[in-house]
Amino acid sequence: MLDLPVADDWFVTRDVGDGVTLVSEPHVHPLLRCNVWHIRGRDTDVVVDTSLGLRPLRHLVERELAHGLLAVATHAHSDHIGGMHEFADRAVHTAEAAELADAGRVTLDPTVYGEGVLGPYRQAGYDIPELLVDAVPEGGLAAAVLPRAAAPATRLLVDGDVVDLGDRAFEVLHLPGHSPGSIGLWDAAGGVLFSGDALYDGPLLDELDGCDIPAYVDTVKRLRDLPVTAVHGGHEPSFGRQRLVELCDQYLARRA
Ligand SMILES: [Zn+2]
Repeated sequence: MLDLPVADDWFVTRDVGDGVTLVSEPHVHPLLRCNVWHIRGRDTDVVVDTSLGLRPLRHLVERELAHGLLAVATHAHSDHIGGMHEFADRAVHTAEAAELADAGRVTLDPTVYGEGVLGPYRQAGYDIPELLVDAVPEGGLAAAVLPRAAAPATRLLVDGDVVDLGDRAFEVLHLPGHSPGSIGLWDAAGGVLFSGDALYDGPLLDELDGCDIPAYVDTVKRLRDLPVTAVHGGHEPSFGRQRLVELCDQYLARRA
């Protein structure tokens, strides 16, 4: 068992308005602290990403049983898909369906992630502790490497698909670069983008296995042109149009 303090509440939730709630894990290091977005719709709710899977998540986002609930993985990195197996309806881009269909592992030992992850975080001023959690959930954690259940997708997504909630709809944007099947969900009517790890207000990672820098440059150019009012990323705080442009320009200056 990991010898760390037990957290009172593992997840914290925050209503960010516009029918959206953020679920996050304050005791997880920012490098692995995935934003879980619960979007409430008339017919169906959507959960965008499902964090590490260290504790059950579904009860936090489930309403009446009859109400639809679709879990969408913005991509299949282990910090985003740990809770996918809890949901009956699961969607991912075709390019990452295989990862979701296989069981896997999640590790809280930072050394396993290598310099492609740790380097950008160190350069941005983050401390990298020995473990990427500073507490454990009730019941503890057995080890720093934990199993993840297989969660084959029940719906495969490609660019241009529509995820319809009844009273609002999201266009699927294929945003490769950080990973081959990274996607965003774009509500053009409201100017709201759920961007996954393609864009967030922190160190963007483009040197991992599966990354593609030329594709990432194209993705960032595409995102820069979106008339967003709010961007909810896979990590870190949300932001608006001005910050979107700054973040895109920073990336393009580095890589274009
Ligand atoms: Zn990722």
